[in-house]
Amino acid sequence: MGTLQAGVVPVTPFQQNCTILFDAETREGVVVDPGGDVEVILQVLSENKIAIKAIWLTHGHLDHAGGAMQLREALGVEIVGPHRDDLPLLQSIEIQAGKYNITGLQNCMPDRWLEDGESVSFSDHSFKVFHCPGHAPGHVIYYNDAMKFAHVGDVLFAGSIGRTDLPGGNHAQLLQSIKNKVLPLGDDVGFICGHGPGGRIGDERRENPFLRGI
Ligand SMILES: [Zn+2]
Ligand SMILES: [Zn+2]
Repeated sequence: MGTLQAGVVPVTPFQQNCTILFDAETREGVVVDPGGDVEVILQVLSENKIAIKAIWLTHGHLDHAGGAMQLREALGVEIVGPHRDDLPLLQSIEIQAGKYNITGLQNCMPDRWLEDGESVSFSDHSFKVFHCPGHAPGHVIYYNDAMKFAHVGDVLFAGSIGRTDLPGGNHAQLLQSIKNKVLPLGDDVGFICGHGPGGRIGDERRENPFLRGI
């Protein structure tokens, strides 16, 4: 087994960071949050000769989950996550896409929901799952202790945090999720997030203006 690597493919008009996590040696991996532009994702997978074992979702917003069913069909793999509290969001992707005039996105039904504290893996890379509601009720993040790496979806961004004005959003709950689930992972943990550049948890703890006083 080799090193855990990550590649980001921005998808949908929301420039969502669809993330391919893979093992450099076995070339096995997972796709996190295929929100759309599935042809582009498939092209990247084929160019890099990566065999996808599963689709992992952080939450049910259209830009994260809208391409999951199409990718599932194309690859013949299961959709894992998020937490079941995002079922209403996953079932309203087509309505939301209509409001934003985005075509081709589909409602999503995962093969398996995730619970706080369980683990998911591919090759020999194991990720602990944390339920982090606030941006979306069923939002989960994925943490790999060996590489001190987390995929935090739309919970935390470099210099910002997830918006909480969408259905199911709750600002106080989001801050609690960050305080109790994300920051305790440790200052040296690097993260990829759903939009924009990633970062390091310690930098956010010290400098992110939205985390002052939590
Ligand atoms: Zn979101
Ligand atoms: Zn997003």
